[in-house]
Amino acid sequence: MPSSSPHVTQVADGVWSATGTDTNWVLLRDGSDVTLIDAGYPGDADAVEASVREIGARPEDVRALLITHAHVDHIGAAGRLLERYGVPAYTDAVEVGHAHRDHLEQANERDVVRNLWRPGALPWVLRIMRAGATKDVAVAHAQPFPAAGADGRLDLPGGPVPVATHGHTSGHTAYWLPQAGAVATGDGLVTAHALLRGTGPQLLPAFFNHGDVVAALDPLAALDADLVLPGHGDPLRRPIRDAVAEARGRVS
Ligand SMILES: [Zn+2]
Repeated sequence: MPSSSPHVTQVADGVWSATGTDTNWVLLRDGSDVTLIDAGYPGDADAVEASVREIGARPEDVRALLITHAHVDHIGAAGRLLERYGVPAYTDAVEVGHAHRDHLEQANERDVVRNLWRPGALPWVLRIMRAGATKDVAVAHAQPFPAAGADGRLDLPGGPVPVATHGHTSGHTAYWLPQAGAVATGDGLVTAHALLRGTGPQLLPAFFNHGDVVAALDPLAALDADLVLPGHGDPLRRPIRDAVAEARGRVS
């Protein structure tokens, strides 16, 4: 079974990055209140709860789950958080239908089998299968963001600002954290993945993507942030515009 002990690292004042089964989520704490950005695989649900406790809060202190995009490795604990703790889930209006599973923009089993030649692919598949990668997970309660303030910040702990980075999925969204000078990039920009060679800022393999992921880098590059919190791979202390430039340079 997947580990229920996430790896949790404080990366800035009030900001933590947590890692479950080959996937990351971010926790923002303001006093005792918490915002969660993404929620791991279904098998990471215990780890998501444990990460909240590890930063000194309780799962019932989570005021909202913000979803970068509705792939199974980013929404796994959403149902649990609603059922046990009444945590609402928000995502870009364009991504809501995907979260509801009105349609699916996700690599299918055939895509995965075609990519088994990649070094490290087979152990990765076994890990994510154990974590519930093939489960049908919907976030029926996902809703569009509540109205933001004039500065774009949502009225949630940590004051995250949604940044439309539609590409990896139709409604993929990054979250800028102006106070921390950080940006949670979801799968719009990653620093490592079992199916990628080498680390550093880059795009995911094409079969994971469902739109123009290169164009979606533009709004990221415009942000004032020098801490990159990716959906896969380690946090990276580098100006986001430089990270974007490197990712662009790797596109063949
Ligand atoms: Zn994804």
